[in-house]
Amino acid sequence: MSERTIYLDHAATTPLDKRVLEAMLPYLMTEYGNASSIYTLGRHAMQAIDRSREQVADILGCRPTEIAFTGCGSESDNLAIKGAAYAAQKKGDHIITSAIEHHAVLHTCQYLERFGFKVTYLPVDGYGWIDPAALARAITDQTILVSVMYANNEVGTIEPVAAIGRLCRERKIPFHVDAVQAGGALPLDVAELHADLLSLSAHKFYGPKGVGLLYVRQGVRILPQLQGGSQERGRRAGTENVAGIVGAATALRLAYDDLPRTTPRLVALRDRLIASILTIPGSHLTGHPTDRLPNNASFCFEGVEGESILLSLDLQGIAASTGSACTSGSAEPSHVLLAMGLPVELAHGSLRLTLGKDTTEEDVDAVLAALPAVIEKLRALG
Ligand code: PLP
Repeated sequence: MSERTIYLDHAATTPLDKRVLEAMLPYLMTEYGNASSIYTLGRHAMQAIDRSREQVADILGCRPTEIAFTGCGSESDNLAIKGAAYAAQKKGDHIITSAIEHHAVLHTCQYLERFGFKVTYLPVDGYGWIDPAALARAITDQTILVSVMYANNEVGTIEPVAAIGRLCRERKIPFHVDAVQAGGALPLDVAELHADLLSLSAHKFYGPKGVGLLYVRQGVRILPQLQGGSQERGRRAGTENVAGIVGAATALRLAYDDLPRTTPRLVALRDRLIASILTIPGSHLTGHPTDRLPNNASFCFEGVEGESILLSLDLQGIAASTGSACTSGSAEPSHVLLAMGLPVELAHGSLRLTLGKDTTEEDVDAVLAALPAVIEKLRALG
């Protein structure tokens, strides 16, 4: 096993950037006040939160008051969907989302179905792309919320969120964007996206785990899902994670400062991986060939189990993913791949490689050297 892990699972999580840690440390060690306290130590904490809110708002092109910090991307999705659904209960009971959303969205919608809401799960094409025209047709006079992801976490396909947002805005239906995978990779201007609600999670862009945020456009009503104190303008009770919030804002700013340099490099590495891996017999690219996240290369291989590929790569010090959050043994094929129309057999052989800002040409070389033999050996065993 090589000494250093070749980490190609940045869609799962990313390492903390050193500069982010440095920005966070004072708020863990010396500036540890509760932001609700009125003495100096507390005020310093509140000032740090206010500055962080301004930094985030600057990147999203919104007002600082429109940002609510949460505990993770899943919480942001829950707050957006449940919050908007319950707030609009008197107007209607219909929610539109897609079949390929993250479980933080899908399970939240399924939960709401138990309480009388009706949900349309839009189908996708073979690339995992949601058709805005199909979404327009699904809207009824009962529709109170549309929730569509910016980019898919498994196959990397970028969805036409701006077009969907435009048509929701015309019909005055709140539009939630799960931008957890797009954060730090794609433009996040909420006006251009016509987003009313937008979720992000800091650990996806070299920030700390346990911090998310939700953009809530002024005038859009959500019911808080945590009762308690009046933190985050009454949208999310609980003592603020000051260091985490500072870390999230710092990480987001650094990611967008670095974007002009990182994107072309990642795209070149990704495309080299894709071109080379597709020369392996019985391999298929999953997701859109061009409209995909700069760091996502995902595949299906005929006649092999994705999990077996992962374990074999792990033995060689390479960390990858099948793309879906499956449990070992009884792995259900990914709902995303099935929604894209892949046969069940093929969907079992999925592999997702997601690059990061520290991924090198040598890392890519190592995977390209290891993978063909891994596939060949597993097929021979199968
Ligand atoms: N939404 C998408 C698209 C994701 O990829 C993830 C995490 O993988 C989440 C939501 C949940 O984010 P968190 O892990 O911060 O709860």
